[in-house]
Amino acid sequence: MRSERGLLIVLSGPSGVGKGTVRKALFEQEDLALQYSISVTTRKPREGEVDGVDYFFRTREEFEDMIRSEKLLEWAEFVGNYYGTPVDYVEQTLQEGKDVFLEIEVQGALQVKKAFPEGVFVFLAPPSLSELKSRIVGRGTETEEVIQNRLRMAKEEIDLMDAYDYVVENDEIHLACERITSIVTAEHCRRDRV
Ligand code: 5GP
Repeated sequence: MRSERGLLIVLSGPSGVGKGTVRKALFEQEDLALQYSISVTTRKPREGEVDGVDYFFRTREEFEDMIRSEKLLEWAEFVGNYYGTPVDYVEQTLQEGKDVFLEIEVQGALQVKKAFPEGVFVFLAPPSLSELKSRIVGRGTETEEVIQNRLRMAKEEIDLMDAYDYVVENDEIHLACERITSIVTAEHCRRDRV
């Protein structure tokens, strides 16, 4: 039997580890039926990104308004931009009994853990730091300064791995996806007992 409330699944880990790619692959598995919580950000859209699909792109003033009016479940400033999770969508979707999936950086994940300790916290780990650097450089969208900042952040973020329920190595996308799928299935088996 399924419990009435959905699971909150939080995928986090250093920038460049492949969270976005793993997330997209997970959402191709329709039987998992995860609901993606679209974040709000003050970062400029990258080529091909669409407002309301990839992010809700907002100004700093609009974002700070959302902080003040407590519309965000968590938020963080990451490499000069704000990122945050709209709280209403998460609450409402969990109440509908659906599983909500967040893909967020580490500071935000730690805030969610305080608000939702019953969430399932998954840390996506790079096979190594040098692999992580080549992924950030290979993306080709960032300046050298941004790359260096993101790498520095990544080293700090990896130190926070112990706060998570699960650590999944992203050696290959399909393997990481299989592991996360197993985690979601196992968490349902553990919790949905009538
Ligand atoms: P990017 O600019 O590459 O899209 O995202 C930068 C970082 O922000 C990534 O690690 C991404 O997971 C994280 N991020 C995206 N949305 C959110 C959010 O709502 N809250 C937090 N704390 N981090 C987010």
